[in-house]
Amino acid sequence: WYRKGGYHAVRVADSFAGGRYIAQRKLGWGQFSTVWLAYDTRTSKFVALKIQKSAPQFAQAALHEIEVLSAIANGDPSNDKCVVRLIDHFKHSGPNGQHLCMVLEFLGDSLLRLIRFNRYKGLELNKVREICKCILTGLDYLHRKLGIIHTDLKPENILLFSTIDSTKDPIRSGMTPILERPEGNMNGGASINTNEKKLKQRARRAVARIASRRASMGGMIATPKPDNDRCLDGIDMRCKVVDFGNACWADKQFAEEIQTRQYRAPEVILQSGYSFSVDMWSFACTAFELATGEMLFTPKTGQGFTEDEDHLALMMELLGKMPKKIAVGGGRSKDYFDRYGDLKRIRRLKYWPLHRLLVDKYKFTDADAGEFVEFLCPLFDYAPEKRPTAQKCLQHPWLNIKNLTRNEVKSESSVGKVDVGMSNLQIKVGK
Ligand code: ADP
Ligand code: MG
Repeated sequence: WYRKGGYHAVRVADSFAGGRYIAQRKLGWGQFSTVWLAYDTRTSKFVALKIQKSAPQFAQAALHEIEVLSAIANGDPSNDKCVVRLIDHFKHSGPNGQHLCMVLEFLGDSLLRLIRFNRYKGLELNKVREICKCILTGLDYLHRKLGIIHTDLKPENILLFSTIDSTKDPIRSGMTPILERPEGNMNGGASINTNEKKLKQRARRAVARIASRRASMGGMIATPKPDNDRCLDGIDMRCKVVDFGNACWADKQFAEEIQTRQYRAPEVILQSGYSFSVDMWSFACTAFELATGEMLFTPKTGQGFTEDEDHLALMMELLGKMPKKIAVGGGRSKDYFDRYGDLKRIRRLKYWPLHRLLVDKYKFTDADAGEFVEFLCPLFDYAPEKRPTAQKCLQHPWLNIKNLTRNEVKSESSVGKVDVGMSNLQIKVGK
C-alpha cells in the first residue's frame, strides 16, 4: 500500500504545493488514492486533497480525471450544476514517487452513509425527491452540455454538502486550521516519541473539534448511536456527484465493462454498446435504494449459473421479460440466452413487479407506490434509447409532489378541529 508506486503517507500538518495546502485529517480513500481535508492558506478555506498513487498507470488515470474535472469546472462558472468542483492540481514528490494531487471543493458524507445512518430504512419521499433533483441536475449537465458519461453512479459517489458554506468560514464552523508541524518533528532521537505523542494529541483534538460540529454543518451527519432517533428533519438535502475516475466522453469510450455491479445496465452485461442512458439506469437504482434503504439488484453466483445470469433473471422478475430482439442482440447474448430469448440456465422466474414489491415488502401506501413506479419504470426500459433523459426526468410531476411529514399531518388535523370550533363560535356570536 504505502510503498513505491503506491499511496503517499500523509501526516497531520504536512504541507503541499509549496506550503499552500496544509493536511488536517483523512477524509477517505479509494482504490487509487487517499483523500485528505486540507486548509488552503491562500483562500483561507477548507478543501479536499485527493492524492493519487504514484505508479504510471495511476498517474495516467489521474491525468484523465483532471481533464474531465477541468471540463466540468470550465462549463459551470457559477458552480451550481451539482457536480464536484476542481480547484487546483499539482505534483507532489514523496518517498514512494511522484503523486498527482487534485484539490477539490470540500463536501460532506456520502448518500451511502446517509442510508446507513437511517438504519437502511429508506428516507422520507420528500427527501428522496430533493436528492433526485440534484443528481438529475448533475447528469443533465454532464450529458447534454459536456457529452460526458459518469459510468459509476451510486450512493457512495454522491456526497452531501452544506448550504451554510463552512469552507468559507472555518472559525464559525468550529474548525481552526492546523497550520504548522509541531516543532522538532523532523529531529531524530529521543524527542520523536514525545513529539509523536503531541502530534497525535493535536490531531485527535482537531478531529474532536471537527466531529463536534459535524451534526450542525448541514452536509454532515452525526455518527449514529444505536438508540439515536434518526431525525433528519431540517437537514437540507443537497448533494453533488463525485468520482470522475471512470467517466468518459460518449464518443471516446475505452472500457467495455463499466459500472458497479448492482447499478449496471442490461446493455453493459449483454455488451450491446452503451451511451448516456446507462447513467439513467444507475440513477433509478439509486433512487430506489434511497427510498427503501436496500439495493434493488443484488445478484449472486449460484449452482449452474453466473452472477451475470442471476442479474438478468432478477431484472426480468421485477420488470418482466426482456424483448427477444434485445435479449439476443448483444455481443454476449449467446452466453446467457437461447435463440428464443429465454435464459439458458435459469428457467423458472418468480415475477414480483415493482409496485407489489414496494407495497408488500417496503410497506409503501398504494398511492405512494403508484406515483413512484410511474417515475421509475420508464428509466428501467430494456431499450436504452427509450429511457427518458435527465432533462426529461427533471420535468416529471413526481419530483414536485409533496407528502405531508408526520408533524404536518398532526398539525393539519388539529387545524381542522380548530376550524370547526371557530365556525361554531361564529355561529353563536352571529346569533
Ligand atoms: P477513488 O477514485 O480513489 O475511488 P474518490 O474520488 O471516490 O476516490 O474519493 C475517495 C473517498 O474520499 C470518497 O468516497 C469520499 O469519502 C472522500 N472524498 C472524495 N472527494 C471528496 C470531497 N470533495 N469532499 C469530501 N470527501 C471526499
Ligand atoms: Mg470512489
